[in-house]
Amino acid sequence: MSRFLQIVTVTEAVRTAVRIAPARATETVPPEESAGRVLATPVTADSDIPGFDRAIVDGYALRSSDTAGAGDSSPALVRCTGRIAMGAPGGVPGLQAGECAYLPTGGVLPQGADAAVMKEYTERAGDTILVKRPVFSGENILRHDEDFRKGETVFEEGRLLTPRDAGVLAACGCAAVRVAKKPVVGVISTGNELVPASARPGPGQVRDANAPMIAAWLSGYGCIPRLYGIVRDERESFEAAIAQAVPACDLVLLSGGSSKDDRDMTAAVIAGRGKVLVHGIAIAPGKPTIIGTIGATPIFGLPGHPASAFVVLLAVVRPLLDTMLGRKEPRLRTARAVLAENIPSQRGREEYVRVRVEDGIAYPLFGKSGLLNTLVRSDGLVCIPAGTEGLEKGSTVDVILW
Ligand code: AMP
Ligand code: MG
Repeated sequence: MSRFLQIVTVTEAVRTAVRIAPARATETVPPEESAGRVLATPVTADSDIPGFDRAIVDGYALRSSDTAGAGDSSPALVRCTGRIAMGAPGGVPGLQAGECAYLPTGGVLPQGADAAVMKEYTERAGDTILVKRPVFSGENILRHDEDFRKGETVFEEGRLLTPRDAGVLAACGCAAVRVAKKPVVGVISTGNELVPASARPGPGQVRDANAPMIAAWLSGYGCIPRLYGIVRDERESFEAAIAQAVPACDLVLLSGGSSKDDRDMTAAVIAGRGKVLVHGIAIAPGKPTIIGTIGATPIFGLPGHPASAFVVLLAVVRPLLDTMLGRKEPRLRTARAVLAENIPSQRGREEYVRVRVEDGIAYPLFGKSGLLNTLVRSDGLVCIPAGTEGLEKGSTVDVILW
């Protein structure tokens, strides 16, 4: 009898993965450490931003009505009453009609003024400023609540914060921001044939590509990968690695040893210590995938081939991490492209084909499974849904960019 459970659709596998995701834990970080983290609460402006009317040019604050009809040959004449210092609005009294004050970019608009004129449109003659063009009320001014109004939502919960956001957080008075804790993810490679990258492979041996690839992807996705090395295809080695990883991690990813082969132990070991929920997904590449739990810890058996493992990471592990992180905008970067060739596909499974994209054309890279070079030469994946028999040359596709 086949040891595969019923093969499930990608949708069902994702549903299972999301269901077993551990609850989100949170912590606070300063804005400068927030980029790449997922916001765990909404952020609202604690006050009006910028908080005062300010100039957006270097020039003179004045009453716009004093500049009506001004031009090169008929400049408006206004009297300069002083200079406004940055961060110190007190120095200049309120402006009366016919008066102006020098105001640098970002300086506080004085009482009585409703606009600023750029220095470039003025000329100075002693205390008199010649204004050579009219300004309208509000020109070159940022209103006190024009950026954000007090109480306004600046960022929604679940946002993946960017370096730009770090600046906005600080400007909004958010000196400590609550974000999802980085999940600790155990990474285990399995296979008698595997040696580490530092070793020269002997006959029949290959270097472990999966652990560095999976760990690197996890780091980029806001997780802390923890590598448990290479495990031999022996029950005791599996048991020992899993016993070590499960209590120390929020999620454990094994690769290799997930298919039907008698030596393939992942499913048996998970079943012995916990539950196997999925064994086999209607996805290509990536069918021999296991999803299970040991205690409350989700554990995956990913396929051995690096490209297959990567596809399952994107298609099934990623939604679990999004749930763990509370990430509301799972941003897959995609690009529209036109297919250069037909891509045949088997109905009933979701297929991911590597493609190279050039000038809006997607070139499928068909190749034997197990090739690493297509990972290098491709720009991303085209997904052929389970219900179709392939995609036709000339059709427009969304390429999931690596
Ligand atoms: P398995 O799922 O263990 O039967 O492995 C399928 C294929 O993937 C075999 O050719 C393995 O040598 C290869 N493989 C498994 N694990 C890794 C790994 N960590 N790095 C590179 N290749 C691997
Ligand atoms: Mg193996």
